[in-house]
Amino acid sequence: MKAEAFDYLVVGSGLAGLTFAIRASEHGRVAVLTKASITDSNTSWAQGGIAAAVGESDDWQLHEEDTLQAGGGVCDPAAVRKLVQEAPGAIEWLRSQGARFDSFLGREAGHSRNRIVHHADRTGWEIERAVSGAVRANPNIIVYENAFVTKLLLSDGRVCGLTSQIGEAGLRAFSARAVLLATGGAGKIYARTTNPRIATADGIGLAERVGATIRDMEFMQFHPTVLYHPQIGGFLITEALRGAGATLRNHRGQRFMYDYDPRLELAPRDVVARAIEAEIKHLATWCVYLDATHLDPDGLREEFPTIWSHLRAGGIEMEKEWIPVTPAQHYSCGGVETDLDGRSSVPGLYASGEVASSGVHGANRLASNSLLEAIVFSTAAAEAVRQEPQSDFEDVDYSQPKNVPENEAIRLRHALQNCMSQNLGVFRSNLGIAQADAFVSRLLAEHAELPTAPFSAYASEAYNLLVAARYVVQGARSRKTNVGLHYNADLVTLSRETEVEPAGPA
Ligand SMILES: Cc1cc2nc3c(=O)[nH]c(=O)nc-3n(C[C@H](O)[C@H](O)[C@H](O)COP(=O)(O)OP(=O)(O)OC[C@H]3O[C@@H](n4cnc5c(N)ncnc54)[C@H](O)[C@@H]3O)c2cc1C
Repeated sequence: MKAEAFDYLVVGSGLAGLTFAIRASEHGRVAVLTKASITDSNTSWAQGGIAAAVGESDDWQLHEEDTLQAGGGVCDPAAVRKLVQEAPGAIEWLRSQGARFDSFLGREAGHSRNRIVHHADRTGWEIERAVSGAVRANPNIIVYENAFVTKLLLSDGRVCGLTSQIGEAGLRAFSARAVLLATGGAGKIYARTTNPRIATADGIGLAERVGATIRDMEFMQFHPTVLYHPQIGGFLITEALRGAGATLRNHRGQRFMYDYDPRLELAPRDVVARAIEAEIKHLATWCVYLDATHLDPDGLREEFPTIWSHLRAGGIEMEKEWIPVTPAQHYSCGGVETDLDGRSSVPGLYASGEVASSGVHGANRLASNSLLEAIVFSTAAAEAVRQEPQSDFEDVDYSQPKNVPENEAIRLRHALQNCMSQNLGVFRSNLGIAQADAFVSRLLAEHAELPTAPFSAYASEAYNLLVAARYVVQGARSRKTNVGLHYNADLVTLSRETEVEPAGPA
């Protein structure tokens, strides 16, 4: 089969993929392959905003300090410096693509200054609108929607193309000088996540099969305040609401963060998530509450229109009632290891955004640094790929992707999600990690023995989820100290936050 030739291929149409496409289109033809519609992405759901030291009392050194502090000593300092120094330029670039932002800066946990550039509480939607519009108008970029990338193609140890199952057209092959993976996160390995349905760790599965290095997957971020509601699953209540003054209360109405951390509700996400989980356990309840009833109702409605209307649809009036919340999986800090130019360990393969591990998040991502990471490292990658040799790869020997039957995929996915939620959540233990290790290995072995079936994106995703979960479990197993998002109750905590024991019931 003849492969369709481009200069660069992009897998995914969130902010990382589209930034790369726009930048690389300045010196080559680009194809973007995305498995659903162009705007189906984590990016579209981002609420809070993008961190950048653009305020009067701020500078990049402070942003750097906050990022390193959140990362618990595991960040790559060079990557962090690049991130924070290039942040103001990234905001300007977004504006040049048509993104509109509010005139004031928001505040989020772990930031020592107001530095969150935002568009009310739908910043991601506004950014995705702007960059997808710019991509559509660009004659050097072709977008394939409903194009599920099934495999990366190797030639002499280099990634030189990919195969994709494209809607009605079926399986097609593409060749290029370089491929950028921008497939987003892995939220769907857990039962409760803020991530949309596309977050199935496909990039981890694709990268693993060509031997790319994947690291730090145990640093799974759980957002502390996700709506706990029987009908509206996984809806995030942005940290910016706590930044605006909302407080956390337990079932008894007590402001329990006083018992955990002097930074109270604005302590880093890992600290707040652990405090909430501990409180829920102590009082044997299902959730805690976010209290915004003392804030100005007009301000709430204006600054948080998405949350306001979502909550009303669920029968909650946030200006009058407390919002029930619990932690839920939110962001994958680890991923495909990359250098400062987004290069993976396999020639020809680049990665950016949530699928990548650029080193900026370390053991815990600072709020609003991920949209920023996507722009900064995709911009660098778009420059670096110019050096990649021309691909002379034309004929592709491909085989139809192997799938398990969909009903089996459903079973595997749900079994995996239950196991990971129980054992690899906010709190972990030696026993839980060992049990998850055995269980995930068993699911992978079962998967290998199942009969094959016609292509199904859902079933392909199930395999990718299993692969990603194995990295999370193995990472947790080999991490011998508690740091950032990895908290194993059987280990001694050696990191910054010498844990304060949760107070017992008053
Ligand atoms: C509710 C929510 C709120 C958030 N708020 C913020 C915030 O305020 N600030 C912040 O910085 N970050 C925030 N984040 C995190 C941030 O949105 C993401 O980390 C970021 O958008 C990731 O961008 P990305 O381009 O890497 O991936 P995504 O935006 O997730 O895009 C991934 C793309 O890859 C495609 N894809 C996946 N697999 C395949 C495949 N096999 N074949 C083809 N295409 C594929 C998907 O369809 C999608 O288009 C939030 C996340 C969520 C879920």
